[in-house]
Amino acid sequence: MPTYDFTCRSCQARFEDWVRKPEDRPPCPACGATSVEREMSVPTVHSSTTRARSMRAARRRDDRQQHENMKARLEYEANHD
Ligand SMILES: [Zn+2]
Repeated sequence: MPTYDFTCRSCQARFEDWVRKPEDRPPCPACGATSVEREMSVPTVHSSTTRARSMRAARRRDDRQQHENMKARLEYEANHD
């Protein structure tokens, strides 16, 4: 039986359970809620994607900063020449 990680939407508890069908949602063992979310991610893939995404975000921030610096320099040169 395949087991999956679940997160309870009600109390945020994480637990592992096996399911018979992909659409099966076992009740949360902590609070009994049936609105649980199945974790789709494979840990290693997930962390590398997250890293790549945050690196892209950092690069976008740098681009914007560079753009601001360039704009400031052009304005400076326009006013001081
Ligand atoms: Zn719960």
